[in-house]
Amino acid sequence: SVILSVKNLTKTYGNGVKALRDVSFDVEQGEFLVVIGLSGSGKSTLMRCINRLQEPTSGEIYFQGQDIGKIDKKEQIRDLRRKMGMIFQHFNLIPRQSVLTNVLMGCLGRKNTWRNSWLSLLGIFSEEDRKEALKNLKLVGISEKSHLRADQLSGGQKQRVAIARALTQNPVLLLADEPVASLDPATCHVVMDYLKKVNQELGITVIANLHFLSLVRQYATRVIALKEGQIVFSGKPSEITEEW
Ligand code: ADP
Ligand code: ADP
Repeated sequence: SVILSVKNLTKTYGNGVKALRDVSFDVEQGEFLVVIGLSGSGKSTLMRCINRLQEPTSGEIYFQGQDIGKIDKKEQIRDLRRKMGMIFQHFNLIPRQSVLTNVLMGCLGRKNTWRNSWLSLLGIFSEEDRKEALKNLKLVGISEKSHLRADQLSGGQKQRVAIARALTQNPVLLLADEPVASLDPATCHVVMDYLKKVNQELGITVIANLHFLSLVRQYATRVIALKEGQIVFSGKPSEITEEW
């Protein structure tokens, strides 16, 4: 079934840059969709529209059948973001906190009450939360590092922590914006392998932005290529050429 439907999405920034031009596509539950395109082609803008960090100029996005542009209550937006785990190029971990604390931050998205926010500032989480965080650290093969500070890890390890944090939100969709752009080629594969594991073993739909083709055939179930804000290819990874 369709989990995400993007219809005629357009984004023009205040400076006149047309970052997205009439972008339309559907994502099926369980897909591993790669959005590929050169730097500046509109990949991040698209992702930020999907999780409502940014408002499109026109067009609609339906997530689980709901028009996300029509959501305006704070708790509904929070619930939407909770269902969409986010992974970034520069990991966005809290550098001086432990790996475990970073992963526990995912719980806040799950049940962000004042009480929980307050307790988390004191580093107090329930036993259930800890179990969940440790389970996810184990899934990305890094549970033995749970007490290290985040800034003591390598880039690849940091990204695996970021994946564990996203999973702790209990998302149905994972949005990964250039998840391997800061990593060396060997580490890229390790991180992509864990994203694939999350997709296949947990059934979480993945959308990943990448700016080169080499990883696409190995990981994507489908690929969309963006060029200057327009979709120039949409189809099977085996059919895409270098021409975008
Ligand atoms: P990508 O993720 O593929 O590198 P982006 O979505 O970041 O592409 O950018 C698409 C276009 O929009 C680029 O020309 C970029 O310079 C421009 N752009 C991105 N963010 C902003 C912004 N906040 N204000 C103005 N222009 C922006
Ligand atoms: P990789 O070599 O896996 O791609 P990076 O280039 O991100 O990893 O990091 C190389 C080294 O620099 C790592 O050992 C890491 O501990 C350190 N490092 C990276 N980012 C930071 C940071 N923001 N603060 C402190 N140390 C960092």
